[in-house]
Amino acid sequence: MQAAQIIHIEAPATVANMVCGFDILGFAVKAPYDEMNIRFRDEPGILIVNEDEYNLPTDPEKNVAGAALLAMMQELDPATGFELRIRKHIKPGSGVGSSAASSAGAVVAANRLLGNRFSREDLVRFAMNGEKVASGVKHADNIAPCIYGGITLIRSIHPLDIITITPPPLHVTIVHPQIEVRTADARSILKKQVQLKDAIRQWGNIGGLVAGLLKQDYELISRSLEDVLIEPVRSILIPGFDEVKRRSKAAGALGGGISGSGPSVFMLSKDEPTAQLVAEEMKAIYRSLGLDHHVYMTTIKADPL
Ligand code: ADP
Repeated sequence: MQAAQIIHIEAPATVANMVCGFDILGFAVKAPYDEMNIRFRDEPGILIVNEDEYNLPTDPEKNVAGAALLAMMQELDPATGFELRIRKHIKPGSGVGSSAASSAGAVVAANRLLGNRFSREDLVRFAMNGEKVASGVKHADNIAPCIYGGITLIRSIHPLDIITITPPPLHVTIVHPQIEVRTADARSILKKQVQLKDAIRQWGNIGGLVAGLLKQDYELISRSLEDVLIEPVRSILIPGFDEVKRRSKAAGALGGGISGSGPSVFMLSKDEPTAQLVAEEMKAIYRSLGLDHHVYMTTIKADPL
């Protein structure tokens, strides 16, 4: 152990529920990202210091980063202690994986301090405990792309089976209208049953999307970016959603949808000028709705954390 060593990490935002890939497909973006510093401390246990304006809990059981580290510490010498400093740039509750960035970033940074003794899969397992604190359920759709980079397919949670997909260049435009969509509400309005004809259409799209990404076939990607199950129900919680989608596609976007459980909406484009046009359309729509909003233009982050 090198007591003085400090590990700095930049944990990216992620977009999960990649349109038809509800709960299974997600990707990491280059910006925004959270910054974290971790080092060993002399006393056992976790000390969390928040260095931003979000007033998140410092109790390790209530902060998702602490919950993820506590899961990891079950498998470490009980005398181990960490000091974690968090500077968030990803607004909590925005739908772009703020909680996942803290959970994943904390365990990846701690693992580096420990000489990389855990596998990536172990780290996903630990970080999912942070997601449980944030939303009540252990899920990996944001954690996996945050840790592995690129696009990830979670084929199964029990047992964990994560497949990474290296996509062709994709430009991502994300609009975050400053309204609150409670994850619990977004979950509770979902239908528990689906029609077979809708399921067939959905898995046709998922297969098409994965094939399109692997074949670098933008046309196939574009026509597979369709969600007939979740989006029609959830989009009613997001003012301007249909307009954003219609005008973004008219501006040349390949397609897109709700990021996480909202309120952020993302669109994918083949090139930067198109992504810029999409950003202008998004701003115009929310300006006319009189809603404060923030637009990010970024690309998919291919490298792991
Ligand atoms: P997102 O999809 O942007 O991650 P969630 O609603 O899933 O948003 O998670 C945010 C919730 O987790 C908030 O209630 C927030 O208070 C809580 N939380 C606790 N610790 C953290 C942390 N370190 N980073 C982000 N959110 C945290």
